[in-house]
Amino acid sequence: MKIICIGRNYIDHAAEMNNPIPERPVFFMKPETALVAKHLPFFYPDFSEDVHYELELVLRICKVGKNIQEKFANTYYDQIGLGIDFTARDLQRKCSTEGLPWEMCKSFDGSAPVGTFIPKEDLGDLNDLNFHLDLNGKTVQTGNSGKMIFSFDKLISYVSGFVTLKIGDYLFTGTPAGVGPVKKDDLLQAWLGEKKLLEIEVK
Ligand code: MG
Repeated sequence: MKIICIGRNYIDHAAEMNNPIPERPVFFMKPETALVAKHLPFFYPDFSEDVHYELELVLRICKVGKNIQEKFANTYYDQIGLGIDFTARDLQRKCSTEGLPWEMCKSFDGSAPVGTFIPKEDLGDLNDLNFHLDLNGKTVQTGNSGKMIFSFDKLISYVSGFVTLKIGDYLFTGTPAGVGPVKKDDLLQAWLGEKKLLEIEVK
C-alpha cells in the first residue's frame, strides 16, 4: 500500500507557511513504513531538531482506480479517519531552499500514524467534518473539511490522473493552520467531531 499526502490544502495553513494558494493540488508520498503500529509511540528521529505535527483527515481507498472522474470519486473511498503528517521542518526548509525532494523530511519511519477509521456513511455531511488535535490536553489545531481548497473528490480525481489508487491506500488531505513542534513525552490526541480516533505519545 501507499500513502499519498496533499500539501497546502487549507488557506490558513498556506498563509502560516508563507506559501501561495496553489492552483492545483500538491502531492507527495510516504511509504508503508511511515505507519505506526497501534499503541506504539512515535519515536523522535535523531536527524531532526524540529519535528512538527500536522493533523489531517485521511481517506481510505476502497477500489482500484485511475483517471477517476470527479463525479465518481466518492465511490473510491469508504472510510475516513485522522492521521498525523509528521514533518521534519528543519530538513524541509533545507530541501525547499535547495530545490530537493521531500522524502527526507516527510517520509521517514513513523511519519504517518493513523487512527481508527469510520465508515463515511456514518459521518453525515462530508463537507462539514470538524476535527481537532490536542497536544498535552490543549487544543492546538482545529479544522473543518469545508475549508479545504480542493475537496475530497477533486483530490481523488486529480491524484488518480498520475498514480493508480489501490485498495487500502491512504490519502492524507492536508492540514489546517496551527502546526507546531513536538518533543519527547508529548501526548497527541485527535478527534473527529466528538470521537477520539487517534492517540499517540512521542518518545
Ligand atoms: Mg501535511
